[in-house]
Amino acid sequence: MSDLLFLFNPDRKILTINETVTKTLGYDPRELVGKPLELVVYETQSQKAESVGINTIRMLMWGDTKDTEITLKTKTGNIVQASITISAVRDNKDQVTGFVCIARDLTAQKFAQQNLQNLYEREKHLRQDIEKEMNKRVAFTRILVHELKTPLAAIMSASELMDNEESDSLSIKLTKIIRRSASHLDTRIDELFDLAQGEIGLLQIKSVMLDPAVILHQVYDSMLPLVSNQRQSLLLDLQNALPQIKADKDRLHQILFNLIDNALKYNTDGGKITLRALVKEGYLVISVQDTGRGISKEDQFNIFDPYVRLEAGKKTTEGLGLGLAICKILVTLHKGRIWIESEPYKGSTFTFTLPLVSEEVHINQ
Ligand code: ADP
Repeated sequence: MSDLLFLFNPDRKILTINETVTKTLGYDPRELVGKPLELVVYETQSQKAESVGINTIRMLMWGDTKDTEITLKTKTGNIVQASITISAVRDNKDQVTGFVCIARDLTAQKFAQQNLQNLYEREKHLRQDIEKEMNKRVAFTRILVHELKTPLAAIMSASELMDNEESDSLSIKLTKIIRRSASHLDTRIDELFDLAQGEIGLLQIKSVMLDPAVILHQVYDSMLPLVSNQRQSLLLDLQNALPQIKADKDRLHQILFNLIDNALKYNTDGGKITLRALVKEGYLVISVQDTGRGISKEDQFNIFDPYVRLEAGKKTTEGLGLGLAICKILVTLHKGRIWIESEPYKGSTFTFTLPLVSEEVHINQ
């Protein structure tokens, strides 16, 4: 038996103990039998100078049958927290002849509880530290973005004005360069801010019910001039009657622009880009396929990680290597998945999914 067992008479003289008492409290049975139970009860005084331990025992002997916590003391003076129950032993005339006390050693349980409490406190402090760091980082990034964007906005609007003024052809050319560079810088700042927020889980999406075909047509219309300008072609291949989805309109635009912009940047001259959408297994599946230089298997492995640029060092295309990382964060926030299929020199297809809204939710909208 793993519990401590005492048999004692109504005067609280110990009659018998089990082996667990010997093991736990360190007494030989001969040292306890015939001795008052008080010997093994760790005593504290209440405010009224009553003995708390023995009072508890008395209460349990004469009425209160609930489990109660009590402190026992070992032969060497150590304390043992225990939960005890006491039941009366009666003779055939219903007279109380003695009591059985069963005490459960709570040391291991208390130790585990204390450990758990310590772990909880440590985790709480760590969480608070992380939250503080995150808030500091977000505040800093916000200020930085503001500091960078304010002069940039001035450059962009001034160059826009200059572009409209009557000026010589060199001025127009220079103005166009200023505007284009400022606009690229503006995009890079937005990307950095999105990534900073996305990495610490603070990027949020505002999902609404929308018709994906409308969005895809809008994206197609606005990308077509850019694609044609680069002597490439853009095809829109939509399955009939695409269902409505719940998504963040601006963020969906952002994902699509990003993927088509990449297809355009990394395509071959005269290349073809296909924007496709269909429904499959409860998801809207959207893909952007190009006929460009493709990406090898080993380079595909971390292509969605931030700052990955396969042409690092070459100054052929702009970018920080953040576009795909942000696409992944945004698709994940929509509870979808994004992946790549590609073969060197044959082209790449970037595909992402968005969950369809179930009928029930749909009706409630
Ligand atoms: P970047 O702003 O550099 O384009 P991305 O995160 O969008 O950043 O892309 C990361 C890298 O993946 C790019 O630098 C490029 O090397 C490669 N990549 C992306 N899209 C394509 C594509 N359609 N074809 C070939 N390579 C691509």
